[in-house]
Amino acid sequence: MVLATGFTEITPTASIDVNRHGGRAKCLQRLIRLDMPVPTTVALDFATVHGISQGKMPDLDAMLAAFGDTPLLSVRPSSEDPDWGGPSAILNIGMNDATHARLAESHGEVAATALYLRFIRAYAIHVARLDPDEFELQGPPDRVALQRALDTYEDETDEPFPQDTATQLAEVLRSMARAWEGTTARLLREARGAPADAGLGLVVQAMAIGLGNGLSGSGVIQFVDGHTGERHLRGRYLCQSQGRDAVGDPNARDVMYLSKDPRGRSIEEVLPDVFADLVRYGELCRNRLREEMQIEFTLENETLYILDAVRVSRSPRANLHIAVQLAQDAIISEDEAVMRVPPRSLAELLHSQVDPEGPRDTIAEGIAASPGAATGRIVFSSRAAQAAAAKDEPCILVRRETTPEDIRGMHAAEAVLTERGGITSHAAVIARGLGLPCVVGASDIRLDARKKRLVTTDGRIFSEGDIITIDGTAGEALAGTAQMLEPELGEAFQALLSWADNARDIGVRANADMPADAAKARMFEAEGIGLARTEHMFFEQERLLAMREMIFADTAEDRRTALERIEPMQRADFKELFKIMSGLPVTIRLFDPPLHEFLPQGREGMLELADALDIPVSDVTRRVEALSEFNPMLGMRGVRLGITVPEIYEMQARAIFEATIEASEEGGAPVVPEIMIPLVSAKREVELVKTRIDAVAAAVRVERGVDFTYRLGVMVETPRAALRAGEIAQNAAFLSFGTNDLTQMTYGLSRDDAGRFMGRYVQQQVYPEDPFHTLDVEGVGELLQIGAERGRQGNPDVTLAICGEHGGNPESIAFCRKAGFDYVSCSPFRVPIARLAAAHLAI
Ligand code: PEP
Ligand code: MG
Repeated sequence: MVLATGFTEITPTASIDVNRHGGRAKCLQRLIRLDMPVPTTVALDFATVHGISQGKMPDLDAMLAAFGDTPLLSVRPSSEDPDWGGPSAILNIGMNDATHARLAESHGEVAATALYLRFIRAYAIHVARLDPDEFELQGPPDRVALQRALDTYEDETDEPFPQDTATQLAEVLRSMARAWEGTTARLLREARGAPADAGLGLVVQAMAIGLGNGLSGSGVIQFVDGHTGERHLRGRYLCQSQGRDAVGDPNARDVMYLSKDPRGRSIEEVLPDVFADLVRYGELCRNRLREEMQIEFTLENETLYILDAVRVSRSPRANLHIAVQLAQDAIISEDEAVMRVPPRSLAELLHSQVDPEGPRDTIAEGIAASPGAATGRIVFSSRAAQAAAAKDEPCILVRRETTPEDIRGMHAAEAVLTERGGITSHAAVIARGLGLPCVVGASDIRLDARKKRLVTTDGRIFSEGDIITIDGTAGEALAGTAQMLEPELGEAFQALLSWADNARDIGVRANADMPADAAKARMFEAEGIGLARTEHMFFEQERLLAMREMIFADTAEDRRTALERIEPMQRADFKELFKIMSGLPVTIRLFDPPLHEFLPQGREGMLELADALDIPVSDVTRRVEALSEFNPMLGMRGVRLGITVPEIYEMQARAIFEATIEASEEGGAPVVPEIMIPLVSAKREVELVKTRIDAVAAAVRVERGVDFTYRLGVMVETPRAALRAGEIAQNAAFLSFGTNDLTQMTYGLSRDDAGRFMGRYVQQQVYPEDPFHTLDVEGVGELLQIGAERGRQGNPDVTLAICGEHGGNPESIAFCRKAGFDYVSCSPFRVPIARLAAAHLAI
């Protein structure tokens, strides 16, 4: 029934809609339609509430008529999305001296006084904006306290407490409408995803009085655990209480259990019919509202009223379980379950987490650089981390910042904490790739590597060997061992991702270099490896030495001999990757970094190398100097090395082909390897490398007497490669966009140095985000688009992919899908997120 412009009594047939009246009003209508005993409720639409904030008060007498004589009312906010929040609810509007006297007769003096006091306090704080401390109860809630509250109100405002219900209601509505329009409230809701012009609806409801005679009180009940998502009855009921009192005070004494409980009285025993109704309403919500709801109820002298129902607040883990259970019970579709789980929320399920219910002793705060949590003994060097790992002792690597030399230490550690660095710092990027919990930029700790200790701001000292926990999800370090939640890759997780796979229309592969990464890629059901960085396979001692021999070789013959030592090792690497991926595509990127990275830098290292190679130190120094570059990132790396020292790529190609044959012969699924050329900028580079690799393939076919096929592709990492993709694609079966280098070269921004000023750039909005983290769709994105279009024009069958760090970001996936890419490739731990994000785009 429309009572006057802007007010609608909520009945089963009234026209109530979320976009006009907000989510709470709509939900209340659904409860009414399900025949739940909801007290009379009136909804005010967004326009009316906005009008109230501008001084246009509607006809309240018309509205009050819906509630009969001398009503007691509550007003609650009803924004479009309940997560956007709103002003606090105000209860007991209508309490005045006369109602107090009347209720003292019907409900008892104590109840009447408590109701009045509560209203005076709420009105004083939220409407008259008086100091809450002035209205704190100092003694029992009796007549003396009531008189004091009325007097204080009058002293502070120079007016007696308003007695007229319409006046009280008008002032409450006005204060709530204005609160919504305030800057703080707007910023707060915008941070929660609300648009700037989000509207507020209000619901005015007749109070069910949970105080007074018989069994009266209020509570909440839900049928699922908000933490785990398991189906359990949860909730709380407080005798002689109102609103959400039952959830507000954990120490409240007059609690009654909901279901039978050995600790005391329960509603199930005392009022079995009420309990049965509550359970039935829960089922109705689940089946008809298609959601797990928390029901807010009041008992007024043993009569049950349902005041409200809200979506059960839940952890990401519970959210996934609830969505899957609802789909498995055919209450929602599989697609809908997929849509109910935000892709990034999976990050919390893939790793151990600190149990939010457990105690936490935070000793440092920093940037949450890689999610998950781990406990271990502090080590201050990579060497110590490796020593600890050798003894099977979990350790936490604590460094000022990490450098490439720390990679082995990071591999050995359970988690990483650094004093410096940002989201794209070396520690952050490597940790995400390895799936290690990581906190960077914990600038409030002081490290003393020499004394092997860290000192916190409050002066606590932690030494090497002390146990700490890194919470990479929250960005905190904790003292000691924390209570943990195990990763959640169980049936619900698998079910949801299989539904996501049914829906999505873009492929997801993993970036994986070593067998352990490939195994993770399989575990997360990547559809292949999209990038295996072969240089990462060279840092083992034996290979490093062979590599150095190759670099020091004076003749082509000596160089070939050195490479012949490396080839079987590479063959074994590739064979293992092929076996683990059992028939799925594996993209092997030919060698990328500059050669000088394989040479020692310090004098000690040079001496060691001179010993190993039996040459004078001066030879080593000369060679190091000869290979050093002013700007190695733009120097002789990638295909430039392949053109200049062709034997390296030839060795790798041979190893790939021989591994292909052997992996297939040893009973594995047939392998079609994909070979990828890095850092290309000209068509001729591809032609040259292709000719040589084809020749190696022909030779291996003849030597082994076995045929095989392979696909040769190009990494698009330079702006020129994107612009010339048309002609480059003519010699390429696939183009994979390496957006790390492409971002570096498009901006002319060093990947390794940008961290020094990125924070300030983002702060001052020079860049909206760190472009190494979030794909710059305007600039780098345009190159991606141009590259994709021209590539397809040059070769309509070309496969298009992205394999930079951005490949796992939901926003980048959206961009690539729109540009017609065939797959994205990202670190193994981001594969599930990418699968789910891709499904969201397709549904
Ligand atoms: C890239 O540049 O995006 C890429 C994937 O290669 P790398 O990070 O190894 O340079
Ligand atoms: Mg690159």
